[in-house]
Amino acid sequence: MLKLYNTLLRKKQIFRPLKDKKVGLYTCGPTVYDYAHIGNLRTYIFEDILRRVLEYNGYKVKHVMNYTDVGHLTSDADTGEDKMEKGARREGKSVWEIAEFYIKAFKKDAAALNILKPSLTPRATDHIKEQINLIKILEKKGFTYETKDGIYFDTSRLKDYGRLARLDIKGLKAGARIKMTEGKKNPTDFALWKFSPKNTKRQMEWDSPWGKGFPGWHIECSAISAKYLGQPFDIHTGGVDHISVHHTNEVAQSEAALGKVPAKFWLHGEHLLIETGKMAKSEGNFLTLNYLIEKGFNPLAFRYLVLTTHYRSKLNFTWRSLQAGQNALDTLYGKLREIKHETMRKVSSQSPAYYEKKFLSAINDDLDTPKALSVVWQIIKDNRLSSQDKKQLLLKFDKILGLGLDKIKPLKIPQKIKQLASQREILRINKQFIQADRLRKKIENLGYRIEDTSYGPKIIATRY
Ligand code: AMP
Ligand code: ZN
Repeated sequence: MLKLYNTLLRKKQIFRPLKDKKVGLYTCGPTVYDYAHIGNLRTYIFEDILRRVLEYNGYKVKHVMNYTDVGHLTSDADTGEDKMEKGARREGKSVWEIAEFYIKAFKKDAAALNILKPSLTPRATDHIKEQINLIKILEKKGFTYETKDGIYFDTSRLKDYGRLARLDIKGLKAGARIKMTEGKKNPTDFALWKFSPKNTKRQMEWDSPWGKGFPGWHIECSAISAKYLGQPFDIHTGGVDHISVHHTNEVAQSEAALGKVPAKFWLHGEHLLIETGKMAKSEGNFLTLNYLIEKGFNPLAFRYLVLTTHYRSKLNFTWRSLQAGQNALDTLYGKLREIKHETMRKVSSQSPAYYEKKFLSAINDDLDTPKALSVVWQIIKDNRLSSQDKKQLLLKFDKILGLGLDKIKPLKIPQKIKQLASQREILRINKQFIQADRLRKKIENLGYRIEDTSYGPKIIATRY
């Protein structure tokens, strides 16, 4: 029984797909005007875990993730510049080149983090027609009005606007906190279509029934999800910052156009923070996965770190915690290698099914990855389990965890280490313990450890 926390109801609910064993999953994709930062990547790891858990439970998942390559303005209040145009100016390239470049970079990051490829990755700019059609429906139903700079959605026409975010609409109206854009009737109204500015030529613009321009940011996700998943579909995901504006507006658009909340479940990942606060591309205070790799970390150490915190809790990123993630991952790889090396087979006195149940109940309880990881370590420590059972369980669980355990190969001990070890053995036999100890230290510095067993010395790698 899979339970997921539904933001719409603010509680955990039993998940059942709308249709048989099929699940439609929509993920808000990256705005491709810069590298993804590790905060964004945390959200994509959470969404990847969700997808893998659904598949583990026997569902067939159609996973759609868009690329936002137009219309996401620097301010969520529909003012400011298009982030794509800003990125293009920064780098002296065309908007199209920028999009191409950062989509590629995102794919590379996702692959390094073992994030499964979505079934479809539609780009907003390839779906202008669908977005215009949706705006036309909204217009026909009387939900739109025109201002000097575009076509806006009139949120006061919906009884329940802001339900997802539990927005205090009255408070918003009364308060002067939200800057009102000229011509907007209500502070929460948002742009569906923006007109190209009169005296500057935009790189991305299209003809529409309302004049040349470009779509607002929210309409792309409504149009794309409706096209590929139908309405309603099963699960919509994103980071928590999407609740109050982007997803609230997606709900509004679908409710107005089709009379339905577009998705049954809404899941949101909490933010990754650094000392200076929330990591944000627009603030420029961000770390990329590449930077972590340049510092010598395995990208999967970051994935491990992400899994140690539940997706609905904030995660404070520190280099120390990343190092701890790397150490844990290295130990895990090492243990698995040892298991693979083991030739002696003993019969388990502990049933593997016990652990399977434990793992599954953790992961099915709203994706409790910290608990699932603790089951992994219990298995490693349990000497009542046979090596074979341990290995099988770990590889099975890794279908969800995605820590690359299936790629672990037995380590070849280099000839040089073997020679040093046998020299040490000779010294030991000759009772030259000080010299033998010196060699042991040397071997350790090279990343190996010698364990003296009743069968003779055993060499174990300590770095992986
Ligand atoms: P963007 O590329 O800005 O559209 O964001 C891509 C994804 O990352 C969205 O799901 C955001 O909600 C999410 N996100 C943005 N900032 C953070 C953060 N600091 N931590 C975790 N997720 C974030
Ligand atoms: Zn979206």
